[in-house]
Amino acid sequence: MVVGDISTGTEVLVIGGGPGGYVAAIRGGQLGLDVTLVEADAYGGTCLNDGCIPSKALIHVSGLAHEVEHAESMGLHARADVDMQGLVGWKDGVVDQLTGGVEKLCKANGVNLLSGRAEFVDEHTARVVHGGDGQGSESIEFEHAIVATGSRPIELPGLAFDGERILSSANVLSLESLPESLLVVGGGYIGMELSTMLAKLGTEVTVVEMLDDILPGYDEDVTRLVRKRAEELGIEFHFGEAAQGWEEVAAAARVRTETEGGETSEYTAERVLVAVGRQPASDTCNVEAAGVESTDRGVIETDDAARTTVEHIYAVGDVAGEPMLAHTAYREGHVAAEVIAGEPSRLDYQAIPAAVFTDPEIGTVGLTAAEAEDEGFEPVVGEMPFRASGRSLTLGIEEGFVRIVADAETEFVLGGQIVGPEASELIAEVGLAIEMGARLEDIAATIHTHPTLSEAVGEAAANARGAATHTLNR
Ligand code: FAD
Ligand code: NAD
Repeated sequence: MVVGDISTGTEVLVIGGGPGGYVAAIRGGQLGLDVTLVEADAYGGTCLNDGCIPSKALIHVSGLAHEVEHAESMGLHARADVDMQGLVGWKDGVVDQLTGGVEKLCKANGVNLLSGRAEFVDEHTARVVHGGDGQGSESIEFEHAIVATGSRPIELPGLAFDGERILSSANVLSLESLPESLLVVGGGYIGMELSTMLAKLGTEVTVVEMLDDILPGYDEDVTRLVRKRAEELGIEFHFGEAAQGWEEVAAAARVRTETEGGETSEYTAERVLVAVGRQPASDTCNVEAAGVESTDRGVIETDDAARTTVEHIYAVGDVAGEPMLAHTAYREGHVAAEVIAGEPSRLDYQAIPAAVFTDPEIGTVGLTAAEAEDEGFEPVVGEMPFRASGRSLTLGIEEGFVRIVADAETEFVLGGQIVGPEASELIAEVGLAIEMGARLEDIAATIHTHPTLSEAVGEAAANARGAATHTLNR
């Protein structure tokens, strides 16, 4: 113990108050565990402060502004004047409401909240250094620990974040004025969501992506619609080029890129967003002192109970590796707390959905037809195009589809891919079907409200059975 330390004890020490950590703490409190949650910065972590929530707030408003300004064909002639200060103020209010809610929920569930940076000293002790002058530190003995320290953006050599020209996603989400031009390095989740948002608000956007398509991991017929729409919004793409470095030129950044074959190009923009993935933050709490192992990439590997290589220490959320999504962190947090409380809880990644909040949105869950074949199934596929959905047409949207994948013999639902309006919401029905072991008929025979987008999910399932009535059967 360091001189000046106070010493306390807790049954469960949770390090990090993002979606993984705060959910683990709340669930632990509900189950009667004595839980201490230590957060070094702001409750809610990346998700609430610099990620999911602020990005979706800005994406919503940019969509609203763009839609209002492009509704002449519906007889609506309007102009949307975006007041950036008002917009950022509103977004910050949403964030504050939610982060305040996390703190209240933790307290209401008996969680002891500590503000400061936690570091392991050995496998049953951690030290918490409180922020600010003279606030001291304390030593905490714990029976179990849950590491939920999250992730940080990967910094490219030659393109270090400076918050002025070279921006991280967190910087972009707190911009107080719109850049005239933006170069986006990386056409993944963040690159595509934030490019779309800024292009709709009027920024001239160029995307440089190392691979030959946007959104690696998604099927070509899904990404094609997103790319096409992005191009309609004026976004320019350069594929097969990796960003290498930059220099300041006349109040702008000139970024150099290189193809695999060594061809170089240069792009100049007022600001640059680097969004080339995130790396687990396993180096913030001295896990080695507790004997916890991590991979070369910093991932703390866990088993299906979220346990690390040390029996009584768990890791949840981004620090435990892909998929780095808030709802995965929630689930892992639940499981870790329940396992510590002695419940037979286990992780199952079969029905973890993913959504990309682009225009159109993407929602996926479970297996694609190709993945189902690789796993030895004989898949049957049903589709419903949104151009045949009455609700979609009333929204002015004709592009996109719902696709359901099932096992041909048993008709068990294996997966779904949706691209189109509210895909992020619609995919939940397919997730529920997989989770419940539902068959195509269960979805097809569910009466969906008319006129809604969700009818397209029912029709896709019916289409897989040759019984769709609002689209031609395959
Ligand atoms: P984090 O949210 O990163 O929280 C970790 C916390 O630990 C932080 O608050 C940090 O301060 C704290 N911490 C770290 N070290 C210590 C220490 N030693 N002591 C004390 N505290 C410590 N996911 C989705 O599912 N949907 C989305 O739409 C989505 N959008 C995103 C948009 C952007 C721009 C970004 C960047 C991410 C987005 N994500 C989204 C991903 C999502 O934010 C993360 O998967 C999620 O936040 C992970 O939660 P976590 O608890 O593992 O980590
Ligand atoms: P990403 O992995 O989704 O995409 C990174 C992209 O950068 C890839 O396409 C990669 O090929 C490209 N790239 C890498 N190096 C490059 C270089 N030198 N030059 C040009 N391109 C390069 O990563 P991200 O967009 O930073 O997002 C990080 C993570 O955050 C995601 O993987 C996801 O887990 C999470 N996230 C989720 C959501 C959501 O759920 N809607 C939204 C945002 C972020």
